[in-house]
Amino acid sequence: MNEEETLILDAVDQFLDRDVRPYVRQLEADDEYPQDIVDAMKELGLFGATISAEYGGLGLGAATYSKIVERVSAVWMSVSGIFNSHLIMCAAVERFGTEDMKRHYLPQFASGELRGAIALTEPDCGTDLQGVRTRAVRDGDDYVINGNKLWITNSVQGGVLACLAKTDPDAEPAHKGMSLLLVEKSMGYTARKLKKLGYRGVDTGEVQFDDVRVPAGNLIGEVEGRGLQQILSGLELGRINVASRGIGVARACLEESVAYAQTRKTFGKPIAQHQAIQIKLADMATRVEAARLLTDQAAAAYDTGERCDMEAGMAKLFATEAAVENSMEAMRIHGAYGYSPEYNIERYYRDAPLLAIGEGTNELQRIIIARQLIERNPV
Ligand SMILES: Cc1cc2nc3c(=O)[nH]c(=O)nc-3n(C[C@H](O)[C@H](O)[C@H](O)COP(=O)(O)OP(=O)(O)OC[C@H]3O[C@@H](n4cnc5c(N)ncnc54)[C@H](O)[C@@H]3O)c2cc1C
Repeated sequence: MNEEETLILDAVDQFLDRDVRPYVRQLEADDEYPQDIVDAMKELGLFGATISAEYGGLGLGAATYSKIVERVSAVWMSVSGIFNSHLIMCAAVERFGTEDMKRHYLPQFASGELRGAIALTEPDCGTDLQGVRTRAVRDGDDYVINGNKLWITNSVQGGVLACLAKTDPDAEPAHKGMSLLLVEKSMGYTARKLKKLGYRGVDTGEVQFDDVRVPAGNLIGEVEGRGLQQILSGLELGRINVASRGIGVARACLEESVAYAQTRKTFGKPIAQHQAIQIKLADMATRVEAARLLTDQAAAAYDTGERCDMEAGMAKLFATEAAVENSMEAMRIHGAYGYSPEYNIERYYRDAPLLAIGEGTNELQRIIIARQLIERNPV
């Protein structure tokens, strides 16, 4: 890491201690959008973390970015959602957008003035995105979009989204008829906030498009039919993000358990002296370290520009399962206090399962890993 990256990580630590940690419990309890935290994130440049400097971003590589996401998620995972989804949208624009689109949008995205979402999932399809029904029909200089998206993070508080829509419903194979369009809220979609088990504070919504007119120039890329491919390539970074969130949550569970186990006494000694608890702590710590190594490896591959769907898939799978397992173990170690909102453990326990679902379920990650194993090792 160079000096600039070290300074950025120090600034993130200060931001977390000053602007996030003291307020998490109340914001979580109220399920309130953390506007003051978002304003501090703008100042810090987090909304432009992975956008190139020439478009106003910090131009960080995945390796440094993943360390930011781990730190943020160890304090409040919801905050990471506010800039992660936004940056996946930004990556699609920067990789595939026209120069005009990049010059117009990326500086606004990098400053956080215009924050966004990725709108893929629909009521009838999530894993199998070829089943998308939202339609974008070319009409003169516009596309007209009709359809419905579900579970879209940042759709209520954000001002723009990258929407995956069918531009040619008869295309064979189906993915060749899918395109990605950048749609601003001012163009007419509506979004309604949904209730969730965890991941509170950050808004996840249902989005409705009724004859929403979008300029044809907002198609990402020069030609139709590349949308699924574009979004899937962006998901490599997305999966490294989610793996980093998993490390953050798994690490927070570990650190709070190590501290608690040394103060809580049973049968005349701290529970940390009981072997049954020591075994849990050892397994939790091992999962955190292993998850970080896998994620570092995936981030390094991403930064060299190599295809890394297998590496990102392994990191996502392992790190998010580590978060789920560590949150359960932390709850056992904390006994009844783990079940109470006075401690953070119940929040980790509610947040962790999302990581196994979002950005491609862990079942899907196993399929991606297996396919790559076979493709890379032909006989
Ligand atoms: C809090 C939250 C935030 C979200 N944010 C966003 C967002 O910002 N943007 C967005 O587009 N989406 C978002 N999602 C949606 C998320 O990406 C999907 O829920 C996820 O992709 C899974 O899709 P699904 O829920 O439709 O499950 P389904 O696709 O219906 O899958 C159901 C089950 O079947 C399994 N399955 C499916 N196919 C196979 C197969 N071939 N082999 C084996 N098992 C299989 C799945 O793994 C899963 O266990 C969010 C979801 C949540 C809960």
